[in-house]
Amino acid sequence: INSKLPEVSTTIFTVMSKMANQYGAINLSQGFPNFEASPKLIDLVTQGMQKGYNQYAPMPGLLPLREVISEKTNSLYSSNYHPETEVTITSGATQAIFTIIAAFINPGDEVVIFKPAYDSYEPSIELFGGTIVPIQLKTPDFTVDWQEVEEKITSKTKMVIINTPHNPSGSVLSGQDMLQLEKLLKNTDIILLSDEVYEHIIFDGREHQSAARYPGLAERAFITASFGKTFHTTGWKMGYCMAPASLMTEFRKVHQFNVFCSNHPMQYALAKYLKTPENYLLLPNFYQEKRDLFLSMIKDSRFTFTPAAGTYFQLLKYTEITDEGDVAFAERLTKEHKIASIPVSVFNLNQKDDKVLRFCFAKTDDTLKKAAEILCGI
Ligand code: PMP
Ligand code: GLN
Repeated sequence: INSKLPEVSTTIFTVMSKMANQYGAINLSQGFPNFEASPKLIDLVTQGMQKGYNQYAPMPGLLPLREVISEKTNSLYSSNYHPETEVTITSGATQAIFTIIAAFINPGDEVVIFKPAYDSYEPSIELFGGTIVPIQLKTPDFTVDWQEVEEKITSKTKMVIINTPHNPSGSVLSGQDMLQLEKLLKNTDIILLSDEVYEHIIFDGREHQSAARYPGLAERAFITASFGKTFHTTGWKMGYCMAPASLMTEFRKVHQFNVFCSNHPMQYALAKYLKTPENYLLLPNFYQEKRDLFLSMIKDSRFTFTPAAGTYFQLLKYTEITDEGDVAFAERLTKEHKIASIPVSVFNLNQKDDKVLRFCFAKTDDTLKKAAEILCGI
């Protein structure tokens, strides 16, 4: 078979979760909570089904859900997205990202991405003939060198993809970063894809710098969000995207033939649940406590770290432990020590091995304690 993606194999999330199950390891690899979503939210889905929301939803999504998303975005980021024309409900952020790329990327178009990058961006770009222009985030804090971005932007640049808070590093873009980007994109036709799925998982009093806050970015941006991250429901595969109407029209042309619409009773439930801002505004504290608990328990281990500024991922460096590559070390930890993580080099194709593993701390305190005990013994 003449593969369209010859370099792509099964995603690392599937590989590591499978290995964790096979070896009975604590699974801190693939990012998902091991605790339940709110019973209230689950009841609302049942209610939606009982009320008859069991057939196709409207193609762009249930209007009351789009309305409450628009209100939320307005109150958090002082921006206006019209619910009718500028908000679309998607089957997770992954589907939104794929659809945005499908709708806009033609063969030869250049797409700037920052490495390490979430693993769905590159194959999606390649499928539509786009050329990936990678820019390495600068260690130790995974910051952007805007001078380099300026140099890499050409007349062929069609899209720039940013992700804040950032998976896998846990870093966040600052207001200054967003202003720099705004300046670079001014007077161009470049589309910005701003992946903000962890917008509500941000720590130590930082404010999420949504592209929606910056008019020069918002006018050209798709913002993607995920209810999986915000409401502990990654298995629901529910999310949304927002963009100015002219961009959203093109998005919907593809979306209608990609999934047509997303899960209807869940949209009913999410519309009701989002009416209570505490349901997402308490998330920073909730996850900050988990991060702090996890880090306090491994502070005397041989792993070293800078605390994550956002997301539910923590990078741990293991230079003091072994010279092994991260893929080999992650496999050995899973098989021998019964703890699974994600080797960061897989987000970073063609880069040297950084001796860093990613651990997901969206876990019960009990799981985090067991994980920390193992890590302290390594
Ligand atoms: N972008 C990033 C940066 C992510 O970490 C994830 C979740 N793994 C997604 C997008 C996809 O989100 P969803 O599960 O809603 O498709
Ligand atoms: N986003 C999740 C992570 O980074 C996993 C998503 C997936 O399994 N595709 O772990």
